[in-house]
Amino acid sequence: MRAARELGVKTVAVYSEADRDAVHVRYADEAFPIGPAQSVHSYLHIPNIINAAVQTGAEAIHPGYGFLSENHRFAEVCGIWNLTFIGPPAEAIRLMGIKDQARATMAAAGLPVVPGSQGAVASLDEARVVAESVGLPLLVKASGGGGGRGIRIVETMDQLEEAWERAGREAASAFGNGDLYLERYLKNPRHIEIQIIADKYGHVASLGERESSIQRRRQKILEEAPSPAVDPELRRRMSEAAREAAHAVGYHSAGTMEFLLDDEGRFYFMEMNTRVQVEHAVTEMVTGVDIVKEQIRVAAGEPLSIEGDHLELVGWSLECRINAEDPEQQFRPSPGLITRYDVPQGPWVRIDSGADAGTEVQPFYDSLLAKVVTWGRDRDEAVARMARALSEFRIEGVKTTLELHGQLLQDPEFRAGHIHTNFLGERIPGA
Ligand code: ADP
Ligand code: ADP
Ligand code: MG
Repeated sequence: MRAARELGVKTVAVYSEADRDAVHVRYADEAFPIGPAQSVHSYLHIPNIINAAVQTGAEAIHPGYGFLSENHRFAEVCGIWNLTFIGPPAEAIRLMGIKDQARATMAAAGLPVVPGSQGAVASLDEARVVAESVGLPLLVKASGGGGGRGIRIVETMDQLEEAWERAGREAASAFGNGDLYLERYLKNPRHIEIQIIADKYGHVASLGERESSIQRRRQKILEEAPSPAVDPELRRRMSEAAREAAHAVGYHSAGTMEFLLDDEGRFYFMEMNTRVQVEHAVTEMVTGVDIVKEQIRVAAGEPLSIEGDHLELVGWSLECRINAEDPEQQFRPSPGLITRYDVPQGPWVRIDSGADAGTEVQPFYDSLLAKVVTWGRDRDEAVARMARALSEFRIEGVKTTLELHGQLLQDPEFRAGHIHTNFLGERIPGA
């Protein structure tokens, strides 16, 4: 909505009954109710959202992240109602949405993929055969997965059956798709992702990489751009791979190719997110590109406002996700009334927040409260600035991940940039 306002475009917020007084509802030029608190009846209910757009005379819909943002049917329905979907073509969303198929598509486009099964694996018997050839340890992964869920590790063959059944059950209930595939489990890799943005005229630009290795249970907690492990040569190679992949699926709008990087500098495609990601702001800070504005322009049929295919990255940026979660209860969501909310200020600090004092944090939705983003001339400055910013953030009424981030930023190994996807769990007890 901020991007739209800068472009002189009016906005309509949709909201569930639980979000009547939410920050996004107050910010928008207009707001329209779309149903009860349960997201299946509101934020995930396509007819109600289309109705809101038609009733208010909206021209386009930005799906944000989460909810319907990677639902190819929603993108299609928007088209049927003559509403512009601010995102990639429905077909690209469909192709990348099933992760085992995305692997196949990307392998065909010439990208290195994590060794694993070809497509989904039909049965436990077949999984046993595939596991023999892929080798152990491996991961059983849900084809429709997201948010780090539906993934199980198999270290010995006798663990395969249980992992298979558990992952299948979790996938069926969480994603409505019980399909599974297998991937070799890389030991302590880094999670490196390439941000691309493309217009409808075949111009695909890479905005460089982000590192999202700091994760709790395979969910990102802290991200940065650039990555301490990526030099200009590797950046160029990964960017070229991502650009070619985007061309191969006729992509436009913003998208992210996620890769794993091993300690010998080899990278493997893991999945593509066909939407703007939570952590896109760190890329905005080091490139100067407003990614959401570019998305709106591209959707309106304008060419990218960016010259060239590779953007230069200037300085360093970090993002900390501040979630309403209780560190003393295994980071369970901590809903409730926020009684105090003093956000950090000062130079090179950006706060993207959906809460304030008086906000009732709902149990129905994701626990992300705010993203704190800093920029520095180098990594040390960005880290010191983040520690300073977090020390100014006062949140009362709900438990948060503020302290976890404070601890992490003090860690000498983190400060040295020696991180990997299991770093947080190994270094911070209880995380
Ligand atoms: P990313 O790689 O961008 O972090 P995630 O898979 O973690 O992608 O999802 C992005 C965000 O979408 C989450 O942090 C959350 O804010 C939102 N989200 C996803 N699913 C839901 C949901 N079912 N309800 C509410 N928010 C959701
Ligand atoms: P999601 O769709 O839930 O984001 P991903 O496929 O992106 O799932 O994987 C989420 C995280 O799980 C990765 O960032 C990484 O930490 C871990 N992971 C996934 N695949 C592998 C693998 N083959 N080897 C090691 N870690 C992996
Ligand atoms: Mg992912």
